[in-house]
Amino acid sequence: MSIKVIIAGFKGKMGSTALEMVKADKDLSLAALLDPFATEESFEGVPVFKNKEDLIGLDADVWVDFTTPKFAYTNTRFALENGFAPVVGTTGFTTEEIEGLTALSVEKKLGGLIAPNFAIGAILLMQFAAQAAKYFPNLEIIELHHDKKKDAPSGTAVKTAELISQTRAALQQGASDEEELMAGARGAEFDGFRIHSVRLPGLVAHQEVIFGAQGEGLTIRHDSYDRVSFMSGVNLGIKEVVKREKLVYGLEHLL
Ligand code: NAP
Repeated sequence: MSIKVIIAGFKGKMGSTALEMVKADKDLSLAALLDPFATEESFEGVPVFKNKEDLIGLDADVWVDFTTPKFAYTNTRFALENGFAPVVGTTGFTTEEIEGLTALSVEKKLGGLIAPNFAIGAILLMQFAAQAAKYFPNLEIIELHHDKKKDAPSGTAVKTAELISQTRAALQQGASDEEELMAGARGAEFDGFRIHSVRLPGLVAHQEVIFGAQGEGLTIRHDSYDRVSFMSGVNLGIKEVVKREKLVYGLEHLL
């Protein structure tokens, strides 16, 4: 029996790529599509909904979410409350929101995944960066995305920073008398180091972590040139969440 999937945000860049991925996998099937501004009632035979409340009672297993940071939390809560295991790529969740959703998933005995990045190379970058930070505590994160991205810094940069903080000795970087002559010149501060967000047309999703030490430097970089790079992770997420009873934050927990 195939896993029945709902895609929220199916007209967006990520949602439409996920739609093609689900269509191409015989073990998955589309149960419904959601977009608040949809004008059609069905798409290639799959029902299209404008309001998530109309999905209550639908026969579906997984809720894939590639919408906007503004709606992702309420969408994920809604999915869990209605028996759909969420696989969420939308970014912008707070730690409290993730904790609350994890508790709700346990209460509902539903698996789920919130993944700031579905690309395997990005997961490896995060792990390598956390390892390097043990030896190179001076570092800066530079994330680069297309200019339509709504949130900054990216969810991947935040997750990378959180993982680095678990291994890096506490350190306030930069000169103690450093002065920003233009607001924001030094980027956002996280635990004594900086995160910079670049937004340009032509980019997809890229990140560098630059480490500096006396007389040497190390740069770890990942590039998603095409949104297809995220799809093996989304596919894995869909197939794993239906076997589990607790939501996890980060694809690495399902690998
Ligand atoms: P996008 O092209 O703007 O797509 C978002 C889509 O969601 C749009 O079609 C939008 O419709 C629709 N939408 C907005 N509110 C909705 C709602 N309440 N219910 C259903 N659909 C809704 O953005 P994108 O590039 O696909 O990115 C989507 C999200 O995924 C972003 O948060 C991005 O950071 C994240 N992302 C994650 C990964 C990862 O690996 N985890 C990778 C890339 C991107 P309208 O345009 O009509 O408003």
